[in-house]
Amino acid sequence: MVCTNFNEINFEQLKKTHGIKCIVLDKDNCISKDKTNRIYPQYLQNNWISGLLKWYDMDNIAVVSNSIGSSDDTVNFRDAKEFQKNYKQDMQNLEEKEFKDINIILHNKKKPGCQEEILDYFIKEKKLCENPSEIAIIGDRLFTDVLMGNMMKAFPVYLQTGVHLNEKNVLIKLEQILYNNYIKK
Ligand SMILES: [Mg+2]
Repeated sequence: MVCTNFNEINFEQLKKTHGIKCIVLDKDNCISKDKTNRIYPQYLQNNWISGLLKWYDMDNIAVVSNSIGSSDDTVNFRDAKEFQKNYKQDMQNLEEKEFKDINIILHNKKKPGCQEEILDYFIKEKKLCENPSEIAIIGDRLFTDVLMGNMMKAFPVYLQTGVHLNEKNVLIKLEQILYNNYIKK
């Protein structure tokens, strides 16, 4: 599935039409602005609450990022903890009364190499689904998020622009060219 950004994702369709039970979210340029440790306010106030949380319980949602929760995180996963703290604060500020903490999967191998860690988390540990095809992998990068989603036979959701299209990054530019010329029909 391809969308422009997080606000465009139809979570009802993911659940009802595609049978998706669990949601993996990339952080940078997917739910957050690059290098920030909080959910982009325009998403939090819109599709996060009226889309994602309407159709999915927080237990079925996890952030898998190549910055927070990975080997690139600060000592003792300080950035991941800060992200969780900010989420709490932002939900309180929005006067959302009943909300659960946001899960971040700590992983040793970076995307696209952490497939097993995601499957272990949702299938073995939490027992929330039985098949990789019931997990949506949502992200803005073809070579990490989408590639991993395909490799693990999950359901990739490619966010073509994300929060902000970084055209200065050569790899991102290449992914865009690849997508526009060879993948998009
Ligand atoms: Mg990203």
